[in-house]
Amino acid sequence: MIPHYKVTAIKYATVNRRRKDNFQNPVLGNPDDWMALDFFIWLIVGQNIVVLVDTGFSPASALARQRSYLCTPTESLRLLGYEPEDIQDLVITHLHYDHAGNLDEFKDSTIWVQEREVQFATGKCMCAPLLNHFFSTEDISQLIKRLYQSKVQIINGEHCLHEGIELHCIGGHTDGLQVVRVNTEKGWIVLASDAAHYYENFTLRNPFPAVFNMTDMLVGFDRLLELADGEANIIPGHDPMVCERFPLINVNGVQAYRIA
Ligand SMILES: [Zn+2]
Repeated sequence: MIPHYKVTAIKYATVNRRRKDNFQNPVLGNPDDWMALDFFIWLIVGQNIVVLVDTGFSPASALARQRSYLCTPTESLRLLGYEPEDIQDLVITHLHYDHAGNLDEFKDSTIWVQEREVQFATGKCMCAPLLNHFFSTEDISQLIKRLYQSKVQIINGEHCLHEGIELHCIGGHTDGLQVVRVNTEKGWIVLASDAAHYYENFTLRNPFPAVFNMTDMLVGFDRLLELADGEANIIPGHDPMVCERFPLINVNGVQAYRIA
């Protein structure tokens, strides 16, 4: 039998935006309505296995981009009972500043990232401000440093991290964005990260307006549906609805939600 894992979404920051700013195409409803963008990391726990998906933005990025924390990612984990050294595997869905900061805090963890993403973030596309704007050179430097310490596993496409935890390259939002498929008591769930910022991005096929490759993005929506056991098991990367659809785990004031 494939093992089941517990999955927790930890909200570490939020920012308010207008609805029209969260979709590529015209939106349903009032485009000027407020629609928050929440920032999450995700914890996967099984027997003797602790995997963290993404590491959030760093204090330097928070300062540079005028973002504030509800609670830093590392402190949130501590309050939930996990020290950085407890994290065996660190899956980085993509290398944007709000997903790949703080790597220096997880010195013992093995980092899992797609080859296409590393090439994208260190290649000629990064000469374009429109694309490099979402990255922090500090974060990328940290990744390269860890690569030279043999602490980065660069993968291509699909990879089984542990029985019941799979990584799948989707692309679209960035060239090598990967999603995480996890077996749980609710069946297979998919942590979509920025393959779908909001539920409405994939239900309405209306992407968030940060797209590197539109074909991959749109094909990616179908792929999410193939990978998950039902639409309800797709967990978008930045949607405040996650905090309404899943119960709050009431531990030390951390905004952590039990996905499964
Ligand atoms: Zn992103």
